[in-house]
Amino acid sequence: MKAATDRLHERLRDNYPFFHPRYIGQMLKPPHPAAVVGYVSAMLINPNNHALDGGPATAQMEKEVVAELAAMFGLDPHVGHLTSSGTIANLEALFVARETHPGKAIAYSTDAHYTHGRMGHVLGVEMVAVPTTADGTMDLDALETELRTGRIGTVVATTGTTGLGAVDPVHEIVALGRRYGVRIHVDAAYGGFFRLIADDTPDGVAAAPFVAIGDCDSVVIDPHKHGLQPYGCGAVLFRDPAVVRHYRHDSPYTYFTSDDLHLGEISLECSRAGAAAAALWLTLRLLPLTPDGLGAALRPGRRAALAWAGLIAASEELTVYQPPQLDILTYFPALGSLSRIDAASARVLDRGMRLPPDEAVFVATYTADAAGIAARGHRPEADVPQARILRSVLMKPEIEDQVPDLHERIRALLA
Ligand SMILES: *Cc1c(COP(=O)(O)O)cnc(C)c1O
Repeated sequence: MKAATDRLHERLRDNYPFFHPRYIGQMLKPPHPAAVVGYVSAMLINPNNHALDGGPATAQMEKEVVAELAAMFGLDPHVGHLTSSGTIANLEALFVARETHPGKAIAYSTDAHYTHGRMGHVLGVEMVAVPTTADGTMDLDALETELRTGRIGTVVATTGTTGLGAVDPVHEIVALGRRYGVRIHVDAAYGGFFRLIADDTPDGVAAAPFVAIGDCDSVVIDPHKHGLQPYGCGAVLFRDPAVVRHYRHDSPYTYFTSDDLHLGEISLECSRAGAAAAALWLTLRLLPLTPDGLGAALRPGRRAALAWAGLIAASEELTVYQPPQLDILTYFPALGSLSRIDAASARVLDRGMRLPPDEAVFVATYTADAAGIAARGHRPEADVPQARILRSVLMKPEIEDQVPDLHERIRALLA
């Protein structure tokens, strides 16, 4: 065991420093210590949340944390459960949408997560991509044009796109949707917890789209993104408890000890880690779903995005691609052509991560096309169809203090 573990630890060195404030690449950070303690404590028992017989304690914790998530969104009544990922959670929401609106298409924005197109394919549902406007949110005129055709049964809104962190105007989509009698699903996998600081304050985010989630038919949120959980923790919530009728669950070998609801009766997945529910349950005892609880862990990233956008706007070497709506910042080297922007962005990514560990900076890139760059008022020569630009996910509170330093490091990498 000792020798094998030593080898494991050696091999785990082949990773990026996700915990570090100079890692501002993808949506990755270590879980909260409470999540680790909760997860490991339950995992040693290894309950399976598919049925009450698989672990009554963690099944009960799952119902409690799901109720807390529903209360955060103002979904009342609700039914829902944890999933192993946002992808599976969205699959379930689209599956229910197909059952409630058979034969109808599902509309989503071109900036929505790629999972929607893929899951539409899995479900055999026609998916209609609606273009986005210059802030990366769904174009409502284009949406209404689609709604007028009568072929759309469900609209997917995204509060926090994975690329740009753009927040679709859910409140306006709800108003449109009511007029055309369509179902509305919100993919809040990344941005859902920003509901806690959706208060229109200087270090919060716009309230209206997040408040309107409570008026929608279903919502997906990933506690393993902004909920400080280890991977294996997504969630899907429905407003109408009657949707459970769409899940067939005849089984001769489970569900026998009680008539209480077993989570496996209302989920597509069977076995799921009860430990994931315990981890989230323990975390929410320390950081409840309030502005002062988990919300306080989101504000520093929001402030970091705004402060850094200000530094970039005042600099000569860099340009903000679009103002950040959450804690994801997109920006690019202020050069005269898309080919030069692309090459310089790639160089920052590559050089930054090759520096010695005590100097390295890890950013990500985002591929923007010429039309998207021009739509945002930028005027580099479009000598190639698209360019990689820089993208930074500022999701760790520790990043806030490092913003001036990070800015200087990116400038130095460009020079
Ligand atoms: C991450 C993400 C997903 C997919 O969730 P996974 O947990 O990675 O499967 C879906 N939609 C959005 C908006 C996301 O950010």
